[in-house]
Amino acid sequence: SLEHYDVIVIGSGGAGLAAAINAHDLGAKVVVVERMPTIGGNTLKASVGMNAAQTFYQQKKGIEDTKACFYEETLKGGKFKNNPDLLQQFVERAPDAINWLAQQDIVLSDITITGGMSIDRTHRPADRSAVGGFLISGLVKNLTQRHIEVLLDTKADNIEFHQGKVSGVRVIDEYGESRVLQTKAVIVATGGFSANTKMVEHYRPELTGFVTTNHKGATGSGITLLQNLGAATVDMAEIQIHPTVEQKSAYLISESIRGGGAILVSQAGVRFCNEMETRDKVSAQIIGLAEKSAWIVFDEQVRSQNKAADEYIAKGFVVQGESIDDLATQIGMDPSVLTQTLDTFNQAVRQQQDLQFGRTTALRHPLDKGPFYAIKIAPGVHHTMGGIAISTQAQVLDTHNHPLQGIWAAGEVVGGIHGANRIGGNAVADIIIFGLLAGEQAANWVKTV
Ligand code: ADP
Repeated sequence: SLEHYDVIVIGSGGAGLAAAINAHDLGAKVVVVERMPTIGGNTLKASVGMNAAQTFYQQKKGIEDTKACFYEETLKGGKFKNNPDLLQQFVERAPDAINWLAQQDIVLSDITITGGMSIDRTHRPADRSAVGGFLISGLVKNLTQRHIEVLLDTKADNIEFHQGKVSGVRVIDEYGESRVLQTKAVIVATGGFSANTKMVEHYRPELTGFVTTNHKGATGSGITLLQNLGAATVDMAEIQIHPTVEQKSAYLISESIRGGGAILVSQAGVRFCNEMETRDKVSAQIIGLAEKSAWIVFDEQVRSQNKAADEYIAKGFVVQGESIDDLATQIGMDPSVLTQTLDTFNQAVRQQQDLQFGRTTALRHPLDKGPFYAIKIAPGVHHTMGGIAISTQAQVLDTHNHPLQGIWAAGEVVGGIHGANRIGGNAVADIIIFGLLAGEQAANWVKTV
């Protein structure tokens, strides 16, 4: 049949598309299968950017950074649970991944910061828009230019793997018809399982009832596909809740708002944590409040420098007040308390020293320029750090640490890189770095069989 491929990529998020393009450019005949009716997966929702140290764009802006610092801070953020070899590979390959994107006309030249990092190393589009949509539309453009086939509404249901050899992938189309696509190699890039309530609750019963920021396709089906072949998993109980999620829509409010200088305030009108701590810590602080929710508060200067803020205003998430008093009244806070909170924070910004909570980054400017804004948020299930075990070459490993011949995995389906807590900006880095690597490895391997 015509359905003979060198490489089948399962999943059309950032990892799958990077893998597909790279494998194609190395001479492989590639197809991408995607269970949803649209391309992009959860990557489309990525907001803040892509972390990398020692890049061309940092250098251009005079930002001094080292790979060693990036490694250490990611390891610390991950509570030292990260797989050191995978993390090393990640940090090492990050600048090349930024350059590869630029070569495909996907330029991430603006730079900001996220919680847990000490240096501006989160690369994002020049217009400071959300990275996810920008990335996927850029990748799709490249896919189209190369005529790489994408089968939508097509779910991978089984990887045909017998006596250590891949022969195909059984898929089910939108009409429920199943057929086998023949292939020599498979790349699993199916994303995480944040939207699989049962699976989340199985590994973390205390997360029952939490909203998720993820798209519906984040069901962890790739993990099951690979476990059926004997693949090992790691860190399955490491599930990240993101501190700032608008609860009615389950929409994530980007870390870039805090990174731009915003603060978090409780219903009592006071700050309660270092807003630039890692996601696990900030989430725990919010859950510790009596009301289990908080407000992100910022001013006109933060808004004017962040495209995402306008998106949130358009979506109706933002309460706007002409003065601090006006804002406080609208959100049911004592105006004198909120005024005092902002005065104290602004003092910290001027002195570049936060005596209350020890915030050391994103003390950008005093929050004193009206109008003032507030968004009500609470934590939501956001990212599954655990997943399939891979080698530093993105090969899927069995429970004896042996690679499954002809099968690679990349992106959120994989476990080990982020340890017990993923740093903002490290997921986009992960999917591009390991997507490219999986694509390269699969394409080169195919030439040998
Ligand atoms: P990553 O960030 O790792 O690239 P994403 O969540 O962005 O992951 O993308 C993964 C994609 O894989 C999603 O679009 C999802 O719908 C798709 N997917 C998940 N399971 C399957 C499956 N069994 N068959 C086909 N596509 C799948």
